[in-house]
Amino acid sequence: MLTPKRLGQTDLAISPLGLGTVKVGRNQKVNYPTGFEIPDDDQVVQLLGLAQDLGINLLDTAPAYGTSEERLGKLLSNTSHDWVVSTKVGETFVDGESHFDFTPTQVRLSIERSLRRLRRDYIDMVLVHSDGNDSAIIERYEVFDVLAELKRAGWLRAFGMSTKTLEGGLLTARHADLVMVTYNLDHRAEEAVIDECLRLNKGVLLKKALASGHLCVGDSAEDPVQASMDFVFSHPGVSSAIIGTINPQHLRDNVSKALLALHQD
Ligand code: NAP
Repeated sequence: MLTPKRLGQTDLAISPLGLGTVKVGRNQKVNYPTGFEIPDDDQVVQLLGLAQDLGINLLDTAPAYGTSEERLGKLLSNTSHDWVVSTKVGETFVDGESHFDFTPTQVRLSIERSLRRLRRDYIDMVLVHSDGNDSAIIERYEVFDVLAELKRAGWLRAFGMSTKTLEGGLLTARHADLVMVTYNLDHRAEEAVIDECLRLNKGVLLKKALASGHLCVGDSAEDPVQASMDFVFSHPGVSSAIIGTINPQHLRDNVSKALLALHQD
């Protein structure tokens, strides 16, 4: 069973694997190797129950993930488990198109909407959903000042950015509680962000630890999931790898391979 650990300097304790929920709410314009049907409510409830039984306490969602926030709010409202939920601001996905707005007014409105959809009094983690211009968003919109104010007001517990550049990741490490960064066997370009977070004792969530599933397809003598887990967890700065799956067997596999990689089997 996975054991939660403190995330950087925050008051949150999170499991080393989190569950990514893009596929719970959106199947248009996504970058997975194969198409898929969005799971129904019973399937999502079973997946969440399994995640809980395996020791996962972290769910990652976003307004840009279609109906993901709304569904989690509805389906978690009957459970007593103490989930740590991370959501985002800055991007919405409407009629098949992404829209970005990082202004203070929209950031506030977005968090109010997430609180309603998730049926919560506060949000554990809020990440800026970058459009790729990480540093410009941070500097032009002073987005971390806005989030720090909302944290002081009790709307959220921790904030950061899901970054796409090395510079933006390093800025986030210095000025926020955590960074969400892409890191996998095929993408080490932002590794210095994780090094910096380790040095500063800031939180690191990984996205695309399996390269959105592309590392799992094809013939390889080695088990690609185990190789991925061994790789990501060999970096001591990684707090949690947020892996997206709607397949219960994959979820079980991911947890047992993460435990092996963490030497907690
Ligand atoms: P990922 O976690 O690297 O890969 C997910 C894909 O891998 C899914 O298609 C899944 O398919 C497959 N998979 C999972 N476990 C597997 C296993 N054991 N064997 C074979 N295939 C497996 O990529 P991701 O979903 O793009 O990213 C993870 C999460 O990070 C997202 O869900 C989201 O929460 C977050 N994210 C954030 C951003 C951002 O900009 N903020 C961007 C991307 C992602 P099955 O469903 O069939 O298992």
